[in-house]
Amino acid sequence: MQQKRTKTVDDPIFEVRDTTVSFDMDRGESKVLNEVDIDVERGEVLGVVGESGSGKSMFASALLNAVVDPGVLTGDITFYPESGSAIDLLELSESEIKEVRWEEISMVFQGAMSSFNPTMSIEGHFRETLSAHGYDVEAGMERARELLSDLYLESDQVLGSYPHELSGGMSQRALIALSLVLEPEVLVMDEPTAALDLLMQRSIIQLIQEIADERDLTIVFITHDLPLVANLADRIAVLYAFEFVEVGPAYDVLTEAKHPYTRALLNSTPNLETPREQMRPIDGAAPDPVSVPNGCSYHPRCPVGDETCEHDDPPLDSRTDEGEHVAACHYVDEVSTSVPLTLQEVTVNE
Ligand code: SF4
Repeated sequence: MQQKRTKTVDDPIFEVRDTTVSFDMDRGESKVLNEVDIDVERGEVLGVVGESGSGKSMFASALLNAVVDPGVLTGDITFYPESGSAIDLLELSESEIKEVRWEEISMVFQGAMSSFNPTMSIEGHFRETLSAHGYDVEAGMERARELLSDLYLESDQVLGSYPHELSGGMSQRALIALSLVLEPEVLVMDEPTAALDLLMQRSIIQLIQEIADERDLTIVFITHDLPLVANLADRIAVLYAFEFVEVGPAYDVLTEAKHPYTRALLNSTPNLETPREQMRPIDGAAPDPVSVPNGCSYHPRCPVGDETCEHDDPPLDSRTDEGEHVAACHYVDEVSTSVPLTLQEVTVNE
């Protein structure tokens, strides 16, 4: 693993405050994102990592104000575009938010096939997107060709194809090009490589890195796969039971994790190059959103916890002015001896 530059948040593009997504269910209120606070730095790649059912996808939907009914999104999410005034994303009308999505904040989800209309050529998708947002279509198609080439695709061949004529890796790259054709400032990627084989995943991660650097993009990369994001992210934010439990510069989180859950995630991967098929699951199960344990939500699975943890919920403050590597744990000073990392050698590039 290479050492990434250490990042602090001093020019946030997003400020997320007290943000909750809840569902009213027969069994009770289900909070699938629970009063989260986090800043996203302009130009960074933020890796958001957690097990399935930890709230990762809800965080992605919240950033786009795209939580679907009957989910209720509350809190404050402020977007600071490079030029222009701050935008309170949760106060926008439906038509205003549609403009911000794609034009300012774009998204790529896993499984390109379900994102494309099977009856429309890839070129048709680009033209329709450009025209729906009032962009110059011909200038936009030039950009589309460049983007496809940057993603190592034969642009004319891909534009002339229908989605089913492309391989999984090609269609996912075509979707990334489509998500960037309106030149957004932010790309939210939710498990964008999950349906692909390992080699294709690695190659797409490398392409994402190149594109982010070239275009000064901010990327929020959501994944359950910690090794996948290790070399891509500037910072890593770990979600457990619908809350962030650790946030910090990627290198620090990967080598000096402060939260027992992050350490368990790391120890479930013998080394960062291990394919996810070979990862060992962590003992126990993540909590159901209607019955999150009191106190620290991780205490039923935590080898360190004591009675205090059963009653007192440890705070996490990942805001700009509160330090750069934080964890929600009462015993951050003790976890390094209580939960030793079994991670193999880490290479530091200086
Ligand atoms: S607060 Fe207690 S239970 Fe929670 S992670 Fe820390 S040691 Fe474990």
